[in-house]
Amino acid sequence: MASLMKSIIDKNQPKTSSYVDQLLELALRAHGEDSPEYRGIYHQYYTIPDRGGDLSNARHFQAEVAPEQAKTGLERMYRRVVVVDLVSACAAECSYCVRGYYDRFSLSNAKLDEVADAVARDHHLREILITGGDPLIAPRKLAYLIERILERAPNIRYVRIGTRLPIQDPERFDPTLLALFERASKSLRVEIASQINHPFELQEPTTTLYRSLRGVGVNLYSQNVLLKRVNDTVETMTELYDQLRYLEIAPHYLFHAVPLKGTEKYRTSVQKGLHIISHLSSSGLLSGRAKPQYALITDIGKVNLYHGSIVADKGSTLRIRTSYRLADRLAWNPSYILPATGSVNHDGTLDVLYPNGVDDTEE
Ligand code: SF4
Repeated sequence: MASLMKSIIDKNQPKTSSYVDQLLELALRAHGEDSPEYRGIYHQYYTIPDRGGDLSNARHFQAEVAPEQAKTGLERMYRRVVVVDLVSACAAECSYCVRGYYDRFSLSNAKLDEVADAVARDHHLREILITGGDPLIAPRKLAYLIERILERAPNIRYVRIGTRLPIQDPERFDPTLLALFERASKSLRVEIASQINHPFELQEPTTTLYRSLRGVGVNLYSQNVLLKRVNDTVETMTELYDQLRYLEIAPHYLFHAVPLKGTEKYRTSVQKGLHIISHLSSSGLLSGRAKPQYALITDIGKVNLYHGSIVADKGSTLRIRTSYRLADRLAWNPSYILPATGSVNHDGTLDVLYPNGVDDTEE
């Protein structure tokens, strides 16, 4: 089956929601075509990726999913957390994202029963991250899974949901989920992670929905992406994290854009991200509670960047040092296979190769 992103590229036709179309129109009328606000929306959805390779079975983490695991919808990389891909669809298609390349899927209730049972059996697990696609566009499936977790998996203390629905189509949110989240919050912690890449995305329908979620006990945090011509300036990032702070959306990761074939036009260099994060961290412009962690999504997992993390720089490829250990991976997930980009150091820790991006030349 042709992936959605292949169809978008072939037809040169972005897939957005009418809400995103209206947001772009609003940016145009209020700020003009050359404005950071207009570009911040436009380049997330309306710039078509260059034609890439076959990414239908790619995942953000290339190595974690043995074929039998992929069929269960479970990804197991870390000791305490398991990831469940609920559905492949999203309210709008972000053109820099790998998800649009997936074969379309939606987990059946029978599969969700299996997921809940597998999660309950794994004594290491404390958290389940439900993602996709966007779980909030399948509210009945999401509710079914959360109910099963509440019934069967007392080891789970955190349910985390990754979504962009509040900024892509807030009116599509199913309000019956609020009662479920409120009830679930009495026995575990419900968290919603949103990717919010530009402050202009924080319009009134979106902020109202975030306040409603907070009102029923949901904890909100951000996982944003550094994108060329969207938010790759200190000024835009400072305003974004300042606004998130006062919406009580905790800053979590600021990801360097995932290396995917055809998406080079969205990727800055890793070093540009370091430049921005050092300003956010040490300028005094932001509250200390508003500062994100800058991270790479590598083939062996997420890596926060610190001084000394880049141990070799070959221009287009960086060697990144991590504290991940192959022995731990195999203990948590015996089917784990180290990808070709990973290597084991003398002390058992892992290095990984990471494709760098290229900055625009100064205009
Ligand atoms: S909403 Fe999230 S998962 Fe969906 S296309 Fe955008 S970044 Fe990818």
